[in-house]
Amino acid sequence: MDLINQKTKDMEQGAIREMFDRASAMEDVISLGIGEPDIHTDDSICRAAYVAMLEGYTHYTPNAGIIQLRSAIANETYLKGAHYDPATEVIVTCGGAGAISTLMAVIIDPGDEVLIQDPQWFNYVSQVEYYGGKAIRVPAYAENGFELDAKTISHYITEKTKALMINSPNNPTGRVISYETAREISHLAVERDFMVISDDVYNSLLYTGEDPFCIAEMPGMKERTVIIGSFSKSYAMTGWRIGYAAGPAEVIDRMTKCQEIFTACASSMGQWAAVYALKNPQIAEKIKDIFDRRRRLIMSELSKIDGLRFAEPQGAFYVFADISAFGLSDTEFCNKLLDEEHVVCIPGSPFGEQGRGCIRIAYTIEEEKLVEAVGRIKAFCDRLR
Ligand code: PLP
Repeated sequence: MDLINQKTKDMEQGAIREMFDRASAMEDVISLGIGEPDIHTDDSICRAAYVAMLEGYTHYTPNAGIIQLRSAIANETYLKGAHYDPATEVIVTCGGAGAISTLMAVIIDPGDEVLIQDPQWFNYVSQVEYYGGKAIRVPAYAENGFELDAKTISHYITEKTKALMINSPNNPTGRVISYETAREISHLAVERDFMVISDDVYNSLLYTGEDPFCIAEMPGMKERTVIIGSFSKSYAMTGWRIGYAAGPAEVIDRMTKCQEIFTACASSMGQWAAVYALKNPQIAEKIKDIFDRRRRLIMSELSKIDGLRFAEPQGAFYVFADISAFGLSDTEFCNKLLDEEHVVCIPGSPFGEQGRGCIRIAYTIEEEKLVEAVGRIKAFCDRLR
C-alpha cells in the first residue's frame, strides 16, 4: 500500500534544509543560512504570555483569533489607512506561513495561475502547487536591483491569472518595492482583475528611512488584496507561530472556516503575547536597529571581496550576492564554502532562475561572528580567483 499521496511524494527537500543537514555533521560552523532572528523574544513579551497562562488563557480561542489581537493588528500604523474591520477582515493564523497556506486553500481552483516573483522564497511555489494551482514565475532582474515591475508582470497575465504575490522587503533579495512600482502594480491588478497577496512579514525591518505603506490603501485595491503579516521577524517570535491575514470579509470568513477545520486557532498564549508586543513597538524598533547595524557592517566587510557583487539590501536581513565571477555554480560555491571554510550560505538557484549565480547571506548572527564569517568567505574567494 502506498502510504503517501503523490503530491506529497513530489515535494522536494528544501535547499536550506539540505545545507543545514550537511553542516550539522561539521564543527566550528558559522551559519549565514538561517532566515530567523538569532535574538530571543524580549523578556517582557515572554512574561506577558506567562501572565496570560496564569490567568487561565490556556484554552481554544475563537477560530479567527482573539478580538483584542485582531483590533490591535487593524490599528497598526501601516494598516490603519486601509480601515480593516477587526471583527470580519482580520484573522490570526499559525505564523505568516499558516496565513499563506490557509489563503491558498480558499482561493485556488485547479489550474488557477498565481504569479510569483523569481527569485523568491520557495515555499510560495510549493503551497500554490499543493492546492492544484500553477505557479508562474515572473523575473525580477538583477540589473533592476531585483525589483519586480508592472511591465514585466503584464507579460505573464492570462485569463487564468488569479493572483500576484508580492513580498517587500523581499526574501531572498532584501529589495523593497517602491511606492511608485506598487502604484503601477495596483493599476494593473484593477485593470486586469486579479488579486494581490502582499506578504509583508519583513515590513518592520525597513532601512530606507521611509515608513512601510500598505498596497490595500490604493484605489480599487482593498477588495482584491490580502495582506500577510507575522510577529516572527518583527518581534523575534518565530517559535510562537503567530501571524495574520487582513483582507476582504468573504476571504477572511472562508479562511476562518478552513482554520477551524485544519488547526482550530493559533496558540492562545502566543496571541496574548502578541497583543502585548503591539503595545510595545519599541521592541521591534530595537530589533530593527540591531539588524541595521549588522547590515552596514556586512556591506562594508563584503565590499572587501574582489569579484563579489551585491545591491544594497533595503530591508529584511539578507544580502543576495552575485558570485558568478568565481567560476562555480551557486550550489558548488556553497558546498565548497561549507567544506573548506565551514560557513553556511544558501545557493540562489532554488529561489528561481534569476537567482542562479547568486548566494543568499543572512546576517542573523552577532557582529563579531559576522566579521569572522565574511573573513572566511573572503579567504575562500581569494583562493578561487
Ligand atoms: N514569508 C516570507 C517571505 C518568509 O521568508 C517567511 C519565513 O521565512 C514567512 C513568510 C513565514 O514566516 P512565519 O510563518 O514564521 O511568520
